[in-house]
Amino acid sequence: MEGFPVLEDLGDVSGKKVLLRADFNCPIAEGPDGKTVITDDYRIVSTVPTIKWLLDRGASVTVMSHFGRPKGKHDDRYVLDPVEKRLAELVGPVTFLENVRFNPGEEANDDAFVKELIYGQDLYVNDAFAVSHRSHASVVGPPKYLPSAAGRQLEKEARMMSKLLNEPERPFIAIVGGAKIADKLSLLKSLARKVDAIVVGGGMSYTFQKALGHTTGDSIVDESKTEACSELLAAGPRILLPIDLIALKPGGKLDFSNNLSAEEKGETETIGVDVPDGFEAADIGPKTREYFAREIMSAKTILWNGPMGAFEDERFAGGTIAVAQAVAGCSAFSVVGGGDSVRALNDAGLEDKVSHVSTGGGASLELIEKGDLPGLIALRNAPKK
Ligand code: AMP
Repeated sequence: MEGFPVLEDLGDVSGKKVLLRADFNCPIAEGPDGKTVITDDYRIVSTVPTIKWLLDRGASVTVMSHFGRPKGKHDDRYVLDPVEKRLAELVGPVTFLENVRFNPGEEANDDAFVKELIYGQDLYVNDAFAVSHRSHASVVGPPKYLPSAAGRQLEKEARMMSKLLNEPERPFIAIVGGAKIADKLSLLKSLARKVDAIVVGGGMSYTFQKALGHTTGDSIVDESKTEACSELLAAGPRILLPIDLIALKPGGKLDFSNNLSAEEKGETETIGVDVPDGFEAADIGPKTREYFAREIMSAKTILWNGPMGAFEDERFAGGTIAVAQAVAGCSAFSVVGGGDSVRALNDAGLEDKVSHVSTGGGASLELIEKGDLPGLIALRNAPKK
């Protein structure tokens, strides 16, 4: 995944026209006047170093991005105006192309659309890690024609993932959670070849427990994946599963928006790994938190992806917070990815205490599984200046 050109490889950019692919797909809401407002400008702020680097050296910059899901045609809700306004506050006015996903040629990787995008441009910079696993026109097209480079964010993401996967200090442990085992199986299989131990929590752990012959009550289990879990357990590396759980007692409900009455919510109980009939496990218990924290403390390299329970319901957030605290408190090189784990880390105010927070869920998973990304390959094959 290394060996791609970076900004310095573009040489003298003074007077050059640079086309920049950014990921400005920020969370949005509808404002009081019906117009789109950006609720979190993190993705805009994080492109500033790359844009400043180019502007400070006399280049002119045209930015392009996708925004929302406009399905290949113009949609007023997804025009880039609010992004353009925010970016202007940060770096001064910058030229914008229209939302690239207004054109069906973007997702189809249509060469005629690529030619439209690069018209009049001298150089191309990709600073959109989160879409670099997609062979879309704006990601893989311009490097076919223009000398190209990775921006600072893409460079950092790829460097961190490379350090994690290619030269991890050992022990290297992965912590994997979340509800759906089916979504995480291929991640688990590729991690199994790289790490010394996998810590499994969250809803997906109950399918492992089922494979081991434990009862799972009303907890989420994917019966079609018990065999795959048995194979992983047999093939190694060490897989650590919860040793106690916090469960909803019969009649209770998960409360993801924390607005049910106490009666509707029902009661919780700390139980062992055998979940009784009618109970629904929703978090790791106190003994598991200690057990996982000990493992985390012994690691030199950590990858964490996915919550340890239904953490949106504050009654079941404790296990995920405990893991966030252990990862933040240990001295290992630590990478946290996946929307939910990043959110839990931010909620606990711990995002500065880990080595790297990955912004691109899908892209980082593809890097782990395949070792490279179409966007990086395209940069490597770009014409030299
Ligand atoms: P995923 O999308 O598969 O990464 O899963 C993330 C979601 O899993 C979050 O919304 C969590 O609330 C949910 N989750 C994790 N563990 C459990 C559990 N034990 N029971 C129900 N939901 C869970």
